[in-house]
Amino acid sequence: MRSPDVVVVGAGPAGSLAARHLALAGVRVLLLERATFPRDKPCGDGVSYAGLKVLARNGLEEWAAGFTAPEVLRVVAPNGEYVEVRPPALAPGECYGRTIPRRLLDARLAQSAVEAGARLQEGVRVRRVEREAAGLRVVADGLTVSAPLVILADGSLATVTRRLGLPAGETEMVAVRQYLAGDDALAGLLELHFQRAIVPGYTWIFPLGDGRVNVGSGAFTAQTRAGGLNLREVLSRFIADQQAAAGRLARTRPLGPPRGHPLRTRLDRARPYADRLLVAGDAAGLVNPLTGEGITPAMESGEIAARYAAAALESGTFSASALAAYGRELRRRFLPDQRAARFLRLCLSSPGLLDRMVRRMQRDSDTALEIGSVIIGYRSPRTILRPLLLWRILT
Ligand SMILES: Cc1cc2nc3c(=O)[nH]c(=O)nc-3n(C[C@H](O)[C@H](O)[C@H](O)COP(=O)(O)OP(=O)(O)OC[C@H]3O[C@@H](n4cnc5c(N)ncnc54)[C@H](O)[C@@H]3O)c2cc1C
Repeated sequence: MRSPDVVVVGAGPAGSLAARHLALAGVRVLLLERATFPRDKPCGDGVSYAGLKVLARNGLEEWAAGFTAPEVLRVVAPNGEYVEVRPPALAPGECYGRTIPRRLLDARLAQSAVEAGARLQEGVRVRRVEREAAGLRVVADGLTVSAPLVILADGSLATVTRRLGLPAGETEMVAVRQYLAGDDALAGLLELHFQRAIVPGYTWIFPLGDGRVNVGSGAFTAQTRAGGLNLREVLSRFIADQQAAAGRLARTRPLGPPRGHPLRTRLDRARPYADRLLVAGDAAGLVNPLTGEGITPAMESGEIAARYAAAALESGTFSASALAAYGRELRRRFLPDQRAARFLRLCLSSPGLLDRMVRRMQRDSDTALEIGSVIIGYRSPRTILRPLLLWRILT
């Protein structure tokens, strides 16, 4: 391959889709990934309805259909009461979401970039990106390469992005997850527990459909940092309590240690572009600050970044002022939902309010469906920001 037109740093969902779309547009693209596929990535493995649409338009509908699609959502209040929501069936072949282990999803997305013509180099950790006379120089372990444009998709740590002085937005949430084997419940049951210690964060049990579950806890850094909350302990205690209560996890055994990392949820404080640079996915602060969903925004932002990168190459204009249009498009697409999610989080920030919400959901199936749809990422959080509905939920 001649020297690339674009180097993409990081082959997570954002980077792989950016590389795929650039390759499809006929651009010479080099995708650099520090890990070697298949690699694990701490995640709940939940791919929402919108995420499945992205996979479908990238030719992966049939592949995704091989993974389990939970049908019932159980929401457990801090006081232990719970409600089960079973959304109505969608059109044939459609579902509300699937659990797809990231070990498989990310490898498949990287492969789809390669199939489109991108060159993938694994086991290459990018150390820094430097400016040179007519472009950028990407310096990695054992490799230095120049290109007119770089897309940074280096995930939540955003090491390379931040080293360039680009604000990635502070981390507002943190999440850890563990795989367990020996799940007793129906494969279709998705559980969300609003545990008192981490409200408005929550602990989830996502079935993988083969007797394994992905169990994890997500909380807000205000609690973990200021309150000294240890999220790994919260998760371990949750699993132990479930086992002691002879519940769903009674006969489960861990398949590895809990793993996690902070989540970037502040696109409003990120700057996802600079001269010759675009930032996508977690490094651009795109995670939903209520649910922690980040796979779909990462994939979408990868697609959008590819479009702006291809246009920049076409016009030969790589200035920050030209690439600012990419930042504006990300803001239009993701900021309203992030703001609504943050507002809802405030509304539901005490155990008492969440107890009330679950009680309301038990009594009123329409409201239960509206809230459940937001929790699983089927509907935007904006859809429940209606004064009357909020009043109904919280009173
Ligand atoms: C515990 C937990 C649970 C979560 N659950 C869910 C969920 O159920 N559903 C959901 O939608 N979201 C979930 N998220 C969020 C989701 O994981 C992220 O939003 C998503 O992975 C973002 O994709 P990305 O491509 O931006 O970054 P990543 O997936 O992190 O990919 C970044 C890639 O860049 C590579 N990289 C980083 N630095 C370098 C470097 N210097 N050189 C080369 N390569 C580099 C990394 O190895 C990685 O492969 C969860 C997050 C956590 C922590």
